[in-house]
Amino acid sequence: TDMPTVVTRFAPSPTGFLHIGGARTALYNWLLARHFGGKFLLRIEDTDKKRSTNEAIDAILEGMKWLELDWDGDAISQAGRAERHAEIARELLEKGKAYKCFATSEELTAARDAARASGGNFRGDLWRDRDEGEAPEGAPYSIRIRMPREGETTISDAVQGKVTVQNSNLDDMIILRSDGTPTYMLAVVVDDHDMGVTHIVRGDDHLNNAFRQHQIYEAMGWTPPVLAHIPLIHGPDGKKLSKRHGALGVEAYRDMGYLPAAMRNYLLRLGWSHGDDEIISTEQAIEWFSLENVGKGAARFDFDKLDNLNGHY
Ligand code: GLU
Repeated sequence: TDMPTVVTRFAPSPTGFLHIGGARTALYNWLLARHFGGKFLLRIEDTDKKRSTNEAIDAILEGMKWLELDWDGDAISQAGRAERHAEIARELLEKGKAYKCFATSEELTAARDAARASGGNFRGDLWRDRDEGEAPEGAPYSIRIRMPREGETTISDAVQGKVTVQNSNLDDMIILRSDGTPTYMLAVVVDDHDMGVTHIVRGDDHLNNAFRQHQIYEAMGWTPPVLAHIPLIHGPDGKKLSKRHGALGVEAYRDMGYLPAAMRNYLLRLGWSHGDDEIISTEQAIEWFSLENVGKGAARFDFDKLDNLNGHY
């Protein structure tokens, strides 16, 4: 058929083990792809060399295997695609959608301080209207995107609904650093486009990035994927779930004897529902999963519920 294939992805940064929130994100992307008979891809966002470790990559892959979240094709390393990211930065430069910024770190700090002092936004736009001929011969430069100043950017999020930001709040963010390495914001967009990703399910801590990423799609004339920003999981005290609450990497639950089916069922119900059904098999989850039933409020992690559920499997 000519139905476009649904392509989802899980894009963890390998800076620690696969935590509960990441596992739930992976599960939702996996279910969406399996529901539509599409593809679920895995991309390791290892661009931050200082924070990424091989141990974390292994832990993430192990955790996904334990939860039986199989991905299609090989896991992709984002760091391995740096040349492609740089190529797109140059293309945006040629299109006039980006420009070279020769500002020194002292100048940028001064501009940031001035913006803060006047209560305005730092836009990083010191070289937006300057001619590169004014820069000293051979001076290092970063590449910044030329954000629109007028109007607003609206995202129709599958979970959050319509969300709008005034473009005057968007900064001319760096897309390629002066050492030639891409920034996270550029890499994500280029990779999602090149991988043919049609749907992105991720934590709503990325919603602010979405507006800025949207402008990269616009500048390249690319079609943005469907976005679904899911509320972060909270601990019993209503704060963002973390190690403080005793939340661990998924492999720790495996080692404690929890069954993968119970964990999957539990993660599924952390922010998604199908009537009052509590016990949901993987087959049912694949059949029933839809973004429309993702909750708008933050779900709370509850160890007792996980224990109870484990007793059912
Ligand atoms: N690498 C990001 C993270 O681990 C996710 C980026 C994305 O899903 O767009 O938080």
